[in-house]
Amino acid sequence: MNVQTIMVIGAGQMGSGIAQVAAQAGFRVYLNDIRQEFVERGLATITGNLSRNVEKGKLSEEEKQAILSRLVLSTDLADGQYVDFVVEAVTENMAVKTQIFTKLDEVCPPHTVLASNTSSLPITEIAAVTKRPEKVIGMHFMNPVPVMKLVEIIRGLQTADEVYQLTEDLSKQMGKVPVSVNDFPGFVSNRVLMPMINEAIYCVYEGVATPEAIDEVMKLGMNHPMGPLKLADFIGLDTCLYIMEVLHEGFADSKYRPCPLLRKYVKAGWLGKKSGRGFYVYN
Ligand code: NAD
Repeated sequence: MNVQTIMVIGAGQMGSGIAQVAAQAGFRVYLNDIRQEFVERGLATITGNLSRNVEKGKLSEEEKQAILSRLVLSTDLADGQYVDFVVEAVTENMAVKTQIFTKLDEVCPPHTVLASNTSSLPITEIAAVTKRPEKVIGMHFMNPVPVMKLVEIIRGLQTADEVYQLTEDLSKQMGKVPVSVNDFPGFVSNRVLMPMINEAIYCVYEGVATPEAIDEVMKLGMNHPMGPLKLADFIGLDTCLYIMEVLHEGFADSKYRPCPLLRKYVKAGWLGKKSGRGFYVYN
C-alpha cells in the first residue's frame, strides 16, 4: 500500500510531534482532537518548532510553509474516511482508546492501518474491538518526537506481517529508527524506564533526598542526560501513573506499585511541565 494521508488523533505533546514529523516527511496529515482550541494549540507548537528550525538555518521559510500547508485540522473522527494510516495519541486510558478504535474501524476505508502510540496498553486488546485486528499495531514514538530517533513497533497477536513492514517503512520515512518488540505490558521502553522513575519518586516520598539531588545523582553518576524526576515531569505525571498501573495490573506483581506521592501529585493536578508544576515549577 502506498500511504499518502495520515491522521493523528490527539494534538497533545505526542500527537503534535507525530503530526510534525509526518508532515515533514511529505505526508498530508489530519491532526484531530476533541476541541478546536486543542488542535490549534497543537498547530501552534508545530509552528513554533518549525520557526526555531528556520532561525537555526535548518529549514527555509518556504519549506516551513510547505510543511504547514500539508496539515489539516480536524475535530471529527469521520475524517478517518480520507486516510491510509492513523496514529492514535490520546490520553493513556484503555476506555478512551477503545472507543476511538471502534469508531475509526467504522469510518476508515478497509485498507487503513490503525496504529496506537500507547506507552503501555496491550495492542492485542485494542485490536480486539475492531473488525481488522490484523491491521492494528503499536507505533510508540518517544518524547520529544521531532528529536528522538526511536520508534518501538509492537505487534499485536494478530498483526499482519505486511502491516508490520509498512509501519517500519513509514517510521524510516519519518527519519526514525524502528525497533520490533512483542506485546507485553510497558513493552521494553517503559518496563525498564518507569520502575526507575517510580523508585526515584519513592526516594522523594521517603525523604531520601530532594528531587534536585536525586536528578543530580542520576545525571552525574549514571551519565543520564536528564534526571528521572525532570524526565517524569516532561513525560507527564498522569501518563507515568497510568503506565505504572498498567504494569502493576498486567504483571500482578507488587514491585510495580505506583508510589503514593505520584498519585497525590496527579490528584492535585500537578502533571509536570504541561500543567506548570510537577517535581519542579515551570513558567
Ligand atoms: P497529552 O495529554 O499531551 O495529549 C493527549 C491529547 O489527547 C489531548 O490534547 C486531549 O485533548 C486529546 N484527546 C483526549 N481524548 C480524545 C479523543 N476522544 N479524541 C481526540 N483527542 C482526544 O498526552 P501525551 O503525552 O501526548 O500522550 C498521548 C499518548 O502518547 C498516550 O497514550 C501516552 O501514553 C503516549 N506517549 C506519551 C509519551 C510522553 O512522553 N508523554 C511518550 C510516548 C508515548
